[in-house]
Amino acid sequence: MTQRITGGCHCGAARYRGRGAAAAPFRCYCRDCQRLTGTGHAEMLPLERDSLHLDGPVTEYRMTAGSGAPTWSAFCATCGAPLTRRSDRMSDLVYVHAASLHAPEHYSPERILYPEAAQRWDRP
Ligand SMILES: [Zn+2]
Ligand SMILES: [Zn+2]
Repeated sequence: MTQRITGGCHCGAARYRGRGAAAAPFRCYCRDCQRLTGTGHAEMLPLERDSLHLDGPVTEYRMTAGSGAPTWSAFCATCGAPLTRRSDRMSDLVYVHAASLHAPEHYSPERILYPEAAQRWDRP
């Protein structure tokens, strides 16, 4: 089943569309996700990477994940809102931040990652 997914940043300059992927949406409490979102965890929905169209002033930041794999975090260059995350480890997927969706109310996490890294003020 393929589902059409759309979203964008806070200022509206950056927008994306793509097809939902079969992988599980996840909530992650790791320190990378905390720093990249400015809050206690990330909520990530997988899309098929081939299907992603990302338009607007997007900057991609390259980092090394805990696994050692290169990982990219894309955000709007104008307002700074986080948009996507991708990794060489899962080359057929790109994850979008659930709060950037045009219809975030349909999102629901199916996996919880690194709950042991959660901050006291943001418990799983
Ligand atoms: Zn923006
Ligand atoms: Zn994480």
